[in-house]
Amino acid sequence: MLIVMRTDATREQVDAVCALVRELGGDPRPQLDPQPAVAVGGLQIPLPVERIGRLDGVAECIDDATAPRLVGRGRRPQRTVVRVKGESIGAGGLAIIAGPCAVESREQVLRTAEAVAACGVKWFRGGAFKPRTSPYAFQGLGEEGLRLLEEVSSRFNLRIVTEAKDVASLGAVGQVADVIQIGSRNMYNYSLLEAAGRLNRPVLLKRGMSATVHEWFSSAEYLLAAGNGDVILCERGIRTFETVTRNTLDLAGAILARERTHLPVVADPSHAVGVAAAVPAAALAAAAAGLDGVMIEVHPDPRAALSDGPQAVEPETFVRLVERLRRVHAAASGH
Ligand code: PEP
Ligand code: MN
Repeated sequence: MLIVMRTDATREQVDAVCALVRELGGDPRPQLDPQPAVAVGGLQIPLPVERIGRLDGVAECIDDATAPRLVGRGRRPQRTVVRVKGESIGAGGLAIIAGPCAVESREQVLRTAEAVAACGVKWFRGGAFKPRTSPYAFQGLGEEGLRLLEEVSSRFNLRIVTEAKDVASLGAVGQVADVIQIGSRNMYNYSLLEAAGRLNRPVLLKRGMSATVHEWFSSAEYLLAAGNGDVILCERGIRTFETVTRNTLDLAGAILARERTHLPVVADPSHAVGVAAAVPAAALAAAAAGLDGVMIEVHPDPRAALSDGPQAVEPETFVRLVERLRRVHAAASGH
């Protein structure tokens, strides 16, 4: 269990929590950074959460009921940092992942990658295998799309995030992806999660469009239980009664996911909002909320996009957004 203290908790309040834990037969390990907390080891029996919660300065008790055992912070207070080729997600910076919804052509993907890399962004997204709602819609370039992503990676030194649509495409995607994306529609695909969990590649796990935060945690638990600890959670909007936006960005759910698990959490305002004009403000809100990154769809000619054009921002808008994201992140993290 991890007893998270309020940020303004005093040393005496932390000491009082430790004293109670000791009295109950546990082994308290206080920590002050990044937030005061007391990790509890050495106990076979559950702690009386309500009694601890009544002590001054206690914010939250995180145990296996708050989040599953492997993804929850209860047993692992230190945060997971996903590292790829000298860059990291979850180490305190704001990772910006950008690129088109789908890889459509060599020209489209290279133009986008050039614009993305020119503003110092290190992560490129683009789907080669696209899970589409309609069987008649563009399904992605498949293997040919992966070859184009390889070219992007080597020409622009960008780390590639691309989706594995099913177990069949996982092997090929895993050869090219620096981070394998598991999409919203596949969050409940437990065979895909188990197979991706056996690979030695980071996974970006999108929240199912109708999944609760706890179901999302459970899917992440599948990856960790299969042996893959390099998992990034991605909030991409949930389906609600609202239709003015494509989905509803559940920023509060993402904030709590970061609070209750040790995994990095990023937001995808493009799919959450679905309207290009509103994507920058939603991305800035995610940065202000202290999330570990944002994933933004960028297209050189959104009107001609073969998927998700209405939510794609143009490169010029993206460049300005990156500057603002950096300023907001710096202000929010006190740097
Ligand atoms: C995507 O990232 O283009 C995508 C298909 O996202 P989601 O799985 O969140 O719908
Ligand atoms: Mn998309």
